[in-house]
Amino acid sequence: MSFASLGLIDPLLRNLQDLNYQTPTPVQVKAIPAVLSGNDVMAAAQTGTGKTAGFALPLLQRLVQHGPAVSSNRARVLVLVPTRELAEQVLQSFIAYGKGLDLRFLAAYGGVSINPQMMKLRKGVDVLVATPGRLLDLNRQNAVQFDQVQTLVLDEADRMLDLGFERELNAVFAALPAQRQTLLFSATFTDDIRTMAAGILRGPVNISVSPPNATASKIKQWVVPVDKKNKPELFMHLVAENNWEHALVFVKTRNGVDYLAAILDEAGYSVDTIHGDKPQPARLRALERFKTGEVNMLVATDVAARGLDIDNLPLVINVDLPIVAQDYVHRIGRTGRAGASGVAVSLVCADEAPQLAAIEALIRQTLRRAEEPGFEAEHRVPQTSATGEIIKKPKKPKKPKVPQTAPGALQMPSKKPRPQTGESKRKPAAQRAVATNKGTSLSSNSPFSVQKPRSKPASKPAAGSRKPAGKPAGGRGKR
Ligand code: AMP
Repeated sequence: MSFASLGLIDPLLRNLQDLNYQTPTPVQVKAIPAVLSGNDVMAAAQTGTGKTAGFALPLLQRLVQHGPAVSSNRARVLVLVPTRELAEQVLQSFIAYGKGLDLRFLAAYGGVSINPQMMKLRKGVDVLVATPGRLLDLNRQNAVQFDQVQTLVLDEADRMLDLGFERELNAVFAALPAQRQTLLFSATFTDDIRTMAAGILRGPVNISVSPPNATASKIKQWVVPVDKKNKPELFMHLVAENNWEHALVFVKTRNGVDYLAAILDEAGYSVDTIHGDKPQPARLRALERFKTGEVNMLVATDVAARGLDIDNLPLVINVDLPIVAQDYVHRIGRTGRAGASGVAVSLVCADEAPQLAAIEALIRQTLRRAEEPGFEAEHRVPQTSATGEIIKKPKKPKKPKVPQTAPGALQMPSKKPRPQTGESKRKPAAQRAVATNKGTSLSSNSPFSVQKPRSKPASKPAAGSRKPAGKPAGGRGKR
């Protein structure tokens, strides 16, 4: 199968040759003819499948072949994406594939000044790639009107819903011409996505290139059970022990990102960070420095999880599991691309058992567990099954701070209490010290230390069990 046989015009074929794209990927084989002929499309395809070219190439062709020219403050193709990073990446793809076509492209997203975006929209753009919130801002200020939109693309639709953009999306749908082409790309197809799709797609061509929700099989994945407070130390230990030199590291909170970045930096690693509160230019710079190898470790929150186009990344380390199971698939989608093999290791504490179970249900496999000697979890991570169940209740903590006795519970003779630090089972500190000789302190005030009980207890706590709390709170602003 060649790109030419899919009906693409010469200028596009030449650009693909320059990019050294030899053969279309499976999603491209199916999407390109469907989009060229003006159909709606609903595609289950995750990052790494070549989905961007799957919609960008045929849309560029339609823009060239079908007038009219774009008017001022208008766009002809609207691509909605969840994050700024993805907006930039999709824009770069349009620019590369559409070289020499005399079309205008723009990416518009929040976190940067709106004025330059408004200026560029004055002449009108053929393709506007935007995050939903900024798009609505621009629309409200009359910088962009939607009457010339002929195609709407929703890229990573599931992620947009995860990030809480449902209202913005509905507002955009309502403002667009009813007569249009709509393409919906999503890594996963939850009920919410299907409902949304039913409302906006007309007789779509359905495309599924890999089993939805399956993770790339070439990726070696495993879990290291560990107590929450020991995560930073275990992380540094694993990095040093395995000579991991180029890794994308995911942490739940911004504070966690800053903390790990600081200890990596003090230990002599070159490191940069990406999180929601960082100004956009700094985030793009961090990504660029990581891609070029100027920094070896990129520590990020969820915002970086999707759509980052980093080829040949050998390693993803989840210091925290993602709150939304689908994000696991997206995170580790950074590795093992285009046939390369990758490694994804997750440090999991007892609190995260529900997240682990949800991930395993999503990917339909139980992740292999490997405890690291010296870092065995005192708070056992309960066994999970590939159907998403937590099989065994966690054991009673060996030394609960407040003695708990459930009615009818068997009273066992108490054991000699362990030292509070949990050091007794672990290697001597000298052996554990990993490249932290510049005085790095893995402080108990770290964002990973357990300082107070977490939110409300789950519905049916077993006697003495540490049943993990409900869904941890997470907000767009903090990540
Ligand atoms: P995507 O899934 O759109 O994020 O694309 C993943 C990566 O695959 C990007 O780096 C693209 O440049 C690359 N790519 C897409 N299509 C092809 C192709 N047909 N041949 C080679 N590389 C491709």
